[in-house]
Amino acid sequence: MSLRIGVDVGGTNLRVGVVQDLQIVYEHRVQADFASICRSNSPDVAWSKIVEVMHDALTQALVRHEEVSAIGIGFPGFIDPKTGILASSPNLPGLLNVDLAKALSERVQKPVRVENDALVAAYGEYLLNKIPASQGLIYMGLGTGVGGGLVQNGKAVPGEHGFAMEVGHIIVQPRGRLCGCGNYGCLEQYASATGISKSHQEVTQQQLSAHEIAERAKQGDILAQEAYDIAAKALAQALAHILKVVDVERVVIGGGVSQAWSLMQPAFDAQLNTDLIPVLRGKVHVAISSTQDQAGIVGAACLTTIN
Ligand SMILES: [Zn+2]
Repeated sequence: MSLRIGVDVGGTNLRVGVVQDLQIVYEHRVQADFASICRSNSPDVAWSKIVEVMHDALTQALVRHEEVSAIGIGFPGFIDPKTGILASSPNLPGLLNVDLAKALSERVQKPVRVENDALVAAYGEYLLNKIPASQGLIYMGLGTGVGGGLVQNGKAVPGEHGFAMEVGHIIVQPRGRLCGCGNYGCLEQYASATGISKSHQEVTQQQLSAHEIAERAKQGDILAQEAYDIAAKALAQALAHILKVVDVERVVIGGGVSQAWSLMQPAFDAQLNTDLIPVLRGKVHVAISSTQDQAGIVGAACLTTIN
């Protein structure tokens, strides 16, 4: 396989990797908080800043590896699979109907493809874990938001409009917390890092990060543990619904929050067992991502030409 670039756009940074044969041969990380850029600028200014940051990040990799043939980007938001246009992004307010692939490809003079970040992570998990094409895989990424991706018959499945597996916006709490998508009670509001902080803050009035709450829970803080229990139950609830629609063999949980999986697993297992159709219990293989954060980069790079 020729050299390709894969970009994983996260909540607080973006990671650019040069990929060859599923291996990342060069990688760098750039601090970039696109959500605060969007909140503190007009949509037009935010958009040009984001393009500038992405362009600079790509240039750093391209000066080292000029021979890169294509660039793939995993970006948070609803992306039309036919046009590659980002329709909107719940966590990046103001960014509407923008063509990131076109903007970047004009600047770097290479083909650029933009896909949903969780979809590329799903594809990366599928490739890196060498999963047979006969097995379907669902990826659920618990980060700043909650994303999901589906791989079936060896192909990443974006859906007709790019909304397939938008699991973060499955409603788990009717009339619950207001979500960036405009609805109330979405999974993302409970099972993401920000959701965990909100659950904890509602009870304690303290503003802590999900990571700080995890540290407290590990030391036996019951209120901190409860925030993770809420996240785990919401995740299992949503997953049980999804499995009734897309009956797959494997589920991979990734994203920063999954590092605290030991805090979530008991409540998750109990809830999933309760909510699954009894005959399906014990038949779905749920695991935490073991690809050390490489799935997003590798999946984005490999989706540039395949599928
Ligand atoms: Zn939502």
